[in-house]
Amino acid sequence: MDQEIKIIKRKVSGFVGFANLPKQWHRKSVRRGFTFNCMVVGEGGLGKATLVNTLFNREIIAPKPVEELTVEDENEGVEPVLKIETTSAEIEEDGVKLKLNVVTAPGFGEAINNTDSWKPIVDEINSRFDHYLEAESRINRSAITDNRIHALLYFIEPTGHSLRALDVQLMKLVHEKVNLIPVIAKSDTLVDEEVEEFKTRVMNDIKYQKIKIFTPQIYENDDEEVTANCKALIASFPFAVVGSTSEVQTPDGRTVRGRAYPWGVIEVDNESQNDFVKLRQLLVRNNLEELKETTSDVLYEKYRSEKLEKMGIEQDNTVFKEFDPLTKQEEERALHEAKLAKMEAEMKAVFQHKVSEKEKKLQRSEADLFNRHGEMKTKLEKQIQLLEEKKAQLEKQKSLPVQPAPATQQKARKGFLR
Ligand code: GDP
Repeated sequence: MDQEIKIIKRKVSGFVGFANLPKQWHRKSVRRGFTFNCMVVGEGGLGKATLVNTLFNREIIAPKPVEELTVEDENEGVEPVLKIETTSAEIEEDGVKLKLNVVTAPGFGEAINNTDSWKPIVDEINSRFDHYLEAESRINRSAITDNRIHALLYFIEPTGHSLRALDVQLMKLVHEKVNLIPVIAKSDTLVDEEVEEFKTRVMNDIKYQKIKIFTPQIYENDDEEVTANCKALIASFPFAVVGSTSEVQTPDGRTVRGRAYPWGVIEVDNESQNDFVKLRQLLVRNNLEELKETTSDVLYEKYRSEKLEKMGIEQDNTVFKEFDPLTKQEEERALHEAKLAKMEAEMKAVFQHKVSEKEKKLQRSEADLFNRHGEMKTKLEKQIQLLEEKKAQLEKQKSLPVQPAPATQQKARKGFLR
């Protein structure tokens, strides 16, 4: 039966102290530092490394040597291999430490046949979830490192047309596993109207394909400014960005981060010129913790529950919404037991394999012994037969009468005596 729970809201009259909780939380967080794992995917040359370096205002990913960007003829005919690489950096701002792990997939979309180029990326996301799941089921869970991908920045080529099949394929395969943030790369290569049109087309494609992209939550008790800011971010999806770590001079004499062209300067940090600032707000300034929370409470929970279900462990779907420690404990126990059963089955299989190997070996040596015994027996029988033959010969010679010596022999004997 549902019971109605009455919550009595009351202000405390004297000093209790829990108003200090946010401060305690703040101190603990600053002491521990923060971790953020971000995956960056898109074709080579779309400005991924530059954007990451622009976001964190330092060199996180080393730019490719110029030869690699220009000399393509030498590698002609060689299929690029998609690799997964992680670059880690510890950065600090006003005493707050952030451990940043940037996961890249060099080679993505560069092969002639890109049918399977999504696989290493999806495998990487899954294996990070698996590691976390495994760590959670260990007895000592105090120091679990969270290597799960908290956000995936997907770079869309600024073609001005619409999403390509490869874009749709990759986004559809990862959108339920990561917080997907699509961005239009190098937006300075399109004019303003083209950018707007392209954004609309991309958003329509995303909706049509039912691709889920990360959208910041607006809460009831958020103040007006936060709400307005959130809405402005959402209205600008997908962000059309420009990256550059170089400083350039504007015509009015300011030094800014940007890109200089004969017709003018594009300022990276100018919100009226591109969406870089909005992306930084979403990714780092306002929503980094939300990205991590969504990864843990929604995306990972979904993955985990599906995985357990596949292993035959029944799940209650309400687990997503309400955290129930008993159910969680039960799931963990079931997971642990399933693991033990798997280990036991593996050990049994190894044992049986070893026993049957030993049996085969014994059978082989038994057959060997039997053969050797047979050979020896035949050899001995032959020897006996030979000896028997010799014996018979000797006996035959012995039974013959003694013959007188011939005359010549008698003469010789006489001469010798003289
Ligand atoms: P990645 O291979 O995707 O990591 O691309 P890089 O960051 O190495 O950039 C490739 C080239 O594009 C470099 O010459 C960058 O200077 C240039 N680039 C990076 N970002 C932008 C941008 O926003 N606009 C333009 N026009 N060029 C950019």
